[in-house]
Amino acid sequence: MTIRSRVPLIVLVLAALIGGTLATVKLTTDYLLHRQATAIAHRWAHFVVENVGDLEQIASGEQPSSASMTFFQWSLRVGTVFRYEIFNRQGYSQLVSDQRQIALVDVSEFRPEAAAAAKSRAMSAAVKEGDQDGLPAFFAEAFVPVVAHGHSIAVVAAYVDQTEERSRVFHAFLLAAVALCTLTSLAFVIPAGAWYRRTLEKERADAEIRFLGKHDAMTRLANRAHLSERMTETLDRAVRTGDEIAVLYLDLDHFKDINDRLGHQVGDTVIMLMGDRIRESTRHNDIIARIGGDEFVIVQADISGRAEAEKLAQRLLDVMAQPFIVGGRELPATASIGIALAPVDGRDPERLIQSADLALSKCKADGRNCHRFFTPELDTELQARLQLEARIRAATLKEEFELHFQPLVDLAEGRTTGYEALLRLRAADGAFIPPSTFIPIAEQIGLIGRIGAWVIRQACLTATQWPEGLTVAVNLSPVQFDGTVCGIVRAALDDTGLDPTRLQLEITESLLLEDTESVMAQLAQLKALGVAIVMDDFGTGYSSLSYLWRFPFSKIKIDRSFIQNLQNADKSVETIVRTIINLGHILNMRVAVEGVEDERQLDLVRSLACDEVQGFYFGRPMPASDLADHALAGLPRKLAKALPAPKRVLQLVR
Ligand code: C2E
Ligand code: CA
Ligand code: CA
Repeated sequence: MTIRSRVPLIVLVLAALIGGTLATVKLTTDYLLHRQATAIAHRWAHFVVENVGDLEQIASGEQPSSASMTFFQWSLRVGTVFRYEIFNRQGYSQLVSDQRQIALVDVSEFRPEAAAAAKSRAMSAAVKEGDQDGLPAFFAEAFVPVVAHGHSIAVVAAYVDQTEERSRVFHAFLLAAVALCTLTSLAFVIPAGAWYRRTLEKERADAEIRFLGKHDAMTRLANRAHLSERMTETLDRAVRTGDEIAVLYLDLDHFKDINDRLGHQVGDTVIMLMGDRIRESTRHNDIIARIGGDEFVIVQADISGRAEAEKLAQRLLDVMAQPFIVGGRELPATASIGIALAPVDGRDPERLIQSADLALSKCKADGRNCHRFFTPELDTELQARLQLEARIRAATLKEEFELHFQPLVDLAEGRTTGYEALLRLRAADGAFIPPSTFIPIAEQIGLIGRIGAWVIRQACLTATQWPEGLTVAVNLSPVQFDGTVCGIVRAALDDTGLDPTRLQLEITESLLLEDTESVMAQLAQLKALGVAIVMDDFGTGYSSLSYLWRFPFSKIKIDRSFIQNLQNADKSVETIVRTIINLGHILNMRVAVEGVEDERQLDLVRSLACDEVQGFYFGRPMPASDLADHALAGLPRKLAKALPAPKRVLQLVR
């Protein structure tokens, strides 16, 4: 029951209070007047009895004496008595005096009150309202028996005009009552008002708390739980009516950049503006919810087909493409929208939201700023992804990963100088899952740290079994640079006893992109342990030569995409590779080329004066147990074939 619904009750109570007070005033006035009037009438009757000596005679019909007459006439002009009557003891009036005259009555009138007073020898009085002409509006009459020797000899009736008195008393009381009522009302209304305000505030706070239980505080749109609730209702209704429903999953492209670059406050404002824009673009009965950072879900109820959903999606993309204006700054943005339709793509809220989310990932894969509908293939992808996640989790727990090793060959020395450890994971059917598939997922689900630590330790342990001169290279994910990597490497070295100079850690340009002090500090700490830091996959992605100045790498590995293009007629790739190699040498770094698959490629890289090569030509990644056999087979022959010496080849190429 809310406070508003109680208002009529409060009004009723107030009305009852005021009405009750007025009624009490009226009753009290009447009671007091009655008492006063009867007392006056009584007194006058007695006064008459005492002053009129021949009452008995008058009562029996004789003329009053002249003294009595004088008294009657005098008394009529005094005070409020406007009439006397003298009755005989049977109750018949014998003499009437009023303002005009005093007369013996011709036709005697019987008054039962007079007869009763005579008989009982007790006075009676009544208050009356004058309803005939000539009578005061309000008066009292008193019948007083005149008793002599124990017998009533006459009855004197006195009539007292109370009209003025009544209006005086009534007005006085009314005034008092109004004052009383006002005071009472004030006494009631002031605390009641305060109570009303407090209750109203409390009700508002309660309502806000209830609201926030179901809504997002920032945009005041439904939250995930409430979205589910409302979707269930909408879906139930749709089952009965046979209507279709569209679920649109919208997120802003590169929202993270806005947040990172301009701060959370700006990010929050953008989210609020997004909420407003969505509200303005949707219909009243659509459900809008914010279910994460910049992620909104719009449920379009009872649509007539996918075209309608497409129209809304396009409208939303258009409004989101308008730059957001925050603090006078224009922030250009675009959005992506994944769409799922009920009942075809699912019948329960969770399933539909998930399907729309999958469609959204499709938008992202397709370059964003677009909308995509859910398709069953996306679901297959999802199932595969979930299976892979489960496989990674299980393999992490049970340490089911394997390491394969691929040789690195020093061209000048003509020998294998070490091996790169490459992580392997088998699917349930025993086939290898490519690291390029499972490593990003391990990073996303937060397991790369644990897996990476296992790789470091396992690689160090394996390398301790090798001859002294051989190094081991381990790949590190940027995610591992969370402050723990140095401790993990140190522990692995300590525990396995591997000489730090035999360990090489390969990092990629993406780590340096973050360029935080923390990353630089961790790299320096690692280097201080005595291990070599290698810039891997150089030339891919961001390809900035400036990265080479940022840190004293021991080695640069030129990505294998270069070697594939080296044989092009266009010599620009060759020029780039040559530049990288020269620069590396100037900076005192060794330079390796990855992906050498055949003799021709080997000849080519050798002509560019690189220091090391790696590739299928020298050996594919293999289990540690195969390394000894491999080392004994054919490497010197391959290198011999590739001779003559680098300088001569260089001249040939030129
Ligand atoms: P990467 O560090 O560039 O490793 C070399 C990749 O090139 C390996 O692929 C290797 O099999 C392949 N490769 C070597 N020689 C040739 C060649 O002549 N031709 C061709 N086509 N490919 C060649 P793999 O083993 O599939 O590994 C892929 C990537 O996964 C690695 O690239 C590395 O970035 C990542 N990775 C592998 N193991 C680990 C690990 O333990 N930790 C982390 N963070 N990443 C790893
Ligand atoms: Ca590598
Ligand atoms: Ca590489």
